[in-house]
Amino acid sequence: MKRSIIDDQRTNAVHLSAEELQRYSRHLIMPEVTADGQRRLKAARVLCIGAGGLGSPAALYLAAAGVGTIGIVDFDDVDLSNLQRQILHGTKDVGRGKVESAQDRLRDINPEIDIELHQCRFSSENASGIVSKYDVVVDGSDNFATRYLSNDVCVFEQKPNVYGSVFRFEGQTTVFAPHLGGPCYRCLFPEPPPPESVPNCAQAGVLGVLPGIIGILQAIETVKLIVGIGEPLIGRLLHFDALKVKLRELNLRRDPQCPVCGENPTIFAPIDYDQFCGTGALETVPSISVHELKQKTDAHEPFDLIDVREPFEYEIARIDGAKLIPLGEIGDRVDELQRGEPIVVHCHSGQRSAQAVRLLQQQGFSNVYNLDGGIDAWSDQIDPNVPKY
Ligand SMILES: [Zn+2]
Repeated sequence: MKRSIIDDQRTNAVHLSAEELQRYSRHLIMPEVTADGQRRLKAARVLCIGAGGLGSPAALYLAAAGVGTIGIVDFDDVDLSNLQRQILHGTKDVGRGKVESAQDRLRDINPEIDIELHQCRFSSENASGIVSKYDVVVDGSDNFATRYLSNDVCVFEQKPNVYGSVFRFEGQTTVFAPHLGGPCYRCLFPEPPPPESVPNCAQAGVLGVLPGIIGILQAIETVKLIVGIGEPLIGRLLHFDALKVKLRELNLRRDPQCPVCGENPTIFAPIDYDQFCGTGALETVPSISVHELKQKTDAHEPFDLIDVREPFEYEIARIDGAKLIPLGEIGDRVDELQRGEPIVVHCHSGQRSAQAVRLLQQQGFSNVYNLDGGIDAWSDQIDPNVPKY
């Protein structure tokens, strides 16, 4: 039984030429794929957001595999520093638009497919119009603004969003598709971190080979969704650590309170990063900086450090000595906290922990502080060995 995201009518309207039958023969001889699967690939329309580190391997393999239409959104030009990982582009392409360079390379690999170029910044104004024309989105963006936008628009348009991200030596991938049963990105991270707290590849670095692994996993997931085979990465996140060569799988759950795909959504239209960062401002709570926290720790001052993130985040990265009490449980577990001691609360970027501080204040705790910038700032400014995500 097929669970392809491409319907039978579109599949049956597609024919494979003698040349295509030869080109894709290694697919056709597999009973899980056959000519039916290949026609689904040819009928499919895949949008790659970004022709960079992740988009490069993903688009190369999707083109080779015979995805009939590949759309690419990117506004940027090829820079010499991109070539360490963005293998769609060559040295001769430095200074050219990435989408044009990508088009040349993909055409060379497979002249049978159509390539649609969107040389623009993916924004709240054009996002729905672009995404609605495709069956599935491969998110290869390298910033939170695009990631949240791509997530939200895919939820609105009911398109699977094949997510990937890389940072230094670690990467992760999953498929966000609330309409197929899994969570969306905002189920995990309802609010983006403050823009200044987030380093990108240019600031933090990334191992050039790493996006190859993650981008190819994204391509595999995309092909599986189109052909309708295997177990998609819906509700599961793969985390890859290149230094340890460890692949871990984390189960992800849908959040009924999610602002986009939850029971009472509060976001109904695409919004730009700046907009929702501005409206996300919370009334201030007592806080300390990561440097002050480091001083307290080094001076062996008595205090409790509480981590209010989710267990899967704690598995990815933690601050030594922190006790995990997810935000949703803290109200029921206040008796685990010592009322006499100062309490420092942290999360990923400082927003959930600010909520926790307010909650504890309501429960009569007076000596409680929010860690500004969360574990993200800790990793940036104190301990770069703490992985970022
Ligand atoms: Zn959601």
